[in-house]
Amino acid sequence: MAEFRPDTRPVDLSLFELFKIGPGPSSSHTIGPMAAGLDFRRRVLELPGRVLDRAAGLRAVLLGSLSATGKGHGTDRAVAAGLLGWAPETVDAPAFARLLGGDDPRAEIELSGHTLVLTPDDIEFGPLVHDHPYANTLILKLMGPQGPLFEQTYYSIGGGFIQWEGYQPPERGRPKHAYRTMAGLLGLLEGGLTLARVMLDNETAITGASERDVLAGLDRILEAMDASVTRGLETEGLLPGPIGLSRKAAGLSARSSERQARADRTLLELDAWALAAAEENAAGGVVVTAPTSGSAGVVPAVLRHLRTRRRLSRKNIRQGLLTAAAVGFLIKHNASIAGAEVGCQGEIGSASAMAAGLLCTALGRGPDTAASAAEIALEHNLGLTCDPVMGFVQIPCVERNAMAAVKACNAFLLASGGDPARQKVGFDVVVEVMLETGRDMSCNYKETSQGGLAVNLANC
Ligand code: SF4
Repeated sequence: MAEFRPDTRPVDLSLFELFKIGPGPSSSHTIGPMAAGLDFRRRVLELPGRVLDRAAGLRAVLLGSLSATGKGHGTDRAVAAGLLGWAPETVDAPAFARLLGGDDPRAEIELSGHTLVLTPDDIEFGPLVHDHPYANTLILKLMGPQGPLFEQTYYSIGGGFIQWEGYQPPERGRPKHAYRTMAGLLGLLEGGLTLARVMLDNETAITGASERDVLAGLDRILEAMDASVTRGLETEGLLPGPIGLSRKAAGLSARSSERQARADRTLLELDAWALAAAEENAAGGVVVTAPTSGSAGVVPAVLRHLRTRRRLSRKNIRQGLLTAAAVGFLIKHNASIAGAEVGCQGEIGSASAMAAGLLCTALGRGPDTAASAAEIALEHNLGLTCDPVMGFVQIPCVERNAMAAVKACNAFLLASGGDPARQKVGFDVVVEVMLETGRDMSCNYKETSQGGLAVNLANC
C-alpha cells in the first residue's frame, strides 16, 4: 500500500467534517462506508436509464482493514445502509443494527423504479494486503447479467472522511487565516487574534455558512455529545457481539458518588462519562466523531466535567471545542486520525490531545499552553497500537477512552504548571513523530486484529 502523505496546503477542513454525528462503532469502518454507499447510490441514479434497466444487483468488495475487522465494525451493514439512501447523521440506529440480520437478511434497494436486492453474500471480504493507496478501500459495483455495469473505488481515510479513485478536493472557500502547523497558527495569534476568531472566520470563509449558523451547529454537536453520555449512563447489560462485555458506565457513575475523596470522585466520574459514550458507540448508538467514533468518549467526558463540575458558560465551552477542533485539524492535516493508517495513537492519542487543548482554553489558559497540553497528551500516546479483540470496538477501545480523558486532564495540569516557552518538544514535532511511528508500525497493529490483544484474547 502507498504511504499516507501529509497535506502541503493550508488547513481547510470544516468543523462539521471533524465533528460528525453518526452511528457507531467506527468512523472509518461505519460512517465512511455508509457515506461511500450513499455516494455510489447518487452516482447510479445519475446513470442513463438504459444502464439501470440492465441492472441485476449490487456488490461490495471490502479490502484491507475494512475486510479484516469489517464484520465487528458493521461495515457490511454500513454499505447496505448507504445504498438504501440512509445518511449517517439521520440514520435510525436500531434499524441500522437490524440491517442484513434476522431470518431474512436482505436489503431491498429502490433505484428509480428498479428494486435491487442486496444480501450478505453480495458483500465480499477481500484481501488484507492490496495495492490501493489507502488501507481502508472498498469497491462498489452495479452488476449486470454478465458482470459490472458501473463501479467505483472508495477510500475511507479515517474519521468518516471518504475519497475515491480520481478524487479532487472539492471547490471551497479559502481560509481567511492560512496556517498549516501549530507554529503557524500560534504566529497568527501574535497580532491579537483569538484562536476562536481564527476558527470561526475560517469556517465561514470555507463553507459560506453564517457565523450564527456555525455557532448553532457547534451547539448541536455539544448536545449530541452530551446525549451520547446520557444514553450510555442510562443503559446497562451486555454490549452486542460475541465477547460478552458488560457495560460499566452506570455502575462506575454510581460508585463515584459514594467516594469521599474528591480526587477519586473526579476520576471515577470522568471514567464513567467516557465509558458511557464509548459504550454507546460500541453498541452502534449515535455518537459524534471526535476525531473518530472509536475515540468518541474522550471529548464528551471532559465537556461534561466542565459543564457540571466547573459550571462553565456555553461561550467558554464553545471556545474550548474550537481549540479541540484546531488540534484535530492539525493532526489530520499533517499525519492521520485513522487507526488503520497509524494505529490507535491517531484515534485515542488525537482525542486526548484535543481534550487537553479544550480544557486549557475553556479554563482560561492561553493558546501556547493549549498547544503544550495537546503536545503532552499526544506524546504520551505515541506508539499506541490498534488491536481490537475479535474486530469489535470494545476491548481495548472502551476503557481506552477513559484512560485518554484522564490523561487529557493530567496534560492540562502539566502544561498549566510550566512555561510553554521552555517545553522541549513542540506539538508539530510530535505530530510528525506520530506519523513516522505509524509508518513503522506493523500492519498487525493497524485495525486488522492480527496482533496484540486481538490474537492473545481471541477466544475471550
Ligand atoms: S484500538 Fe483504538 S484505533 Fe483501534 S478500533 Fe479501538 S479505539 Fe479505534
